[in-house]
Amino acid sequence: MSKVQNWPYREEEDVFICPNNRKVLFKRYSQRKNTGGYEQDYKIYECEDCTDCPLKALCTKAKGNRQVHWNPVYEEMKAKARAALDDEQKAALYAKRKVDVETVFGDIKGNRSFTRFLLRGLAKTQTEFGLVAIAHNLLKVAGIRLATFSQKEKERFGKRPVLQIALFI
Ligand code: SF4
Repeated sequence: MSKVQNWPYREEEDVFICPNNRKVLFKRYSQRKNTGGYEQDYKIYECEDCTDCPLKALCTKAKGNRQVHWNPVYEEMKAKARAALDDEQKAALYAKRKVDVETVFGDIKGNRSFTRFLLRGLAKTQTEFGLVAIAHNLLKVAGIRLATFSQKEKERFGKRPVLQIALFI
């Protein structure tokens, strides 16, 4: 009920209609930095009058009128993603991506600390990410070779490997 995404929107007036059938009007633009340090543009809307609204306790904790901070770019991307997931074929691909791709991105971000690009522009970021991917794959190969080597050592000399070599290229 309090989710503005579920409220009707009248494009010609640029207003949302709240559950109490009142207009939530556009007031101003605003910019905010997100946790990653990026600036994001918001449209600020405010209900025309929340006085005596029987739904207010469920809708907002604000003393005055309910405000809505709307990020049009983010909401558009979310709507596109939702629409894609309605398609069975795309939903199956997405489920596969969670396993095949997201784990690699998570590893690169979490364990290799690559959380933002240093360069800007598509061509430069493609090159930068290409280098990150090469480094990631080389480290994976080195890890596999080290694990194989340790296993062979265990088989030859008992439970404890006598020698470990880090195969970083
Ligand atoms: S509190 Fe305001 S915005 Fe929320 S339902 Fe009531 S009138 Fe609408």
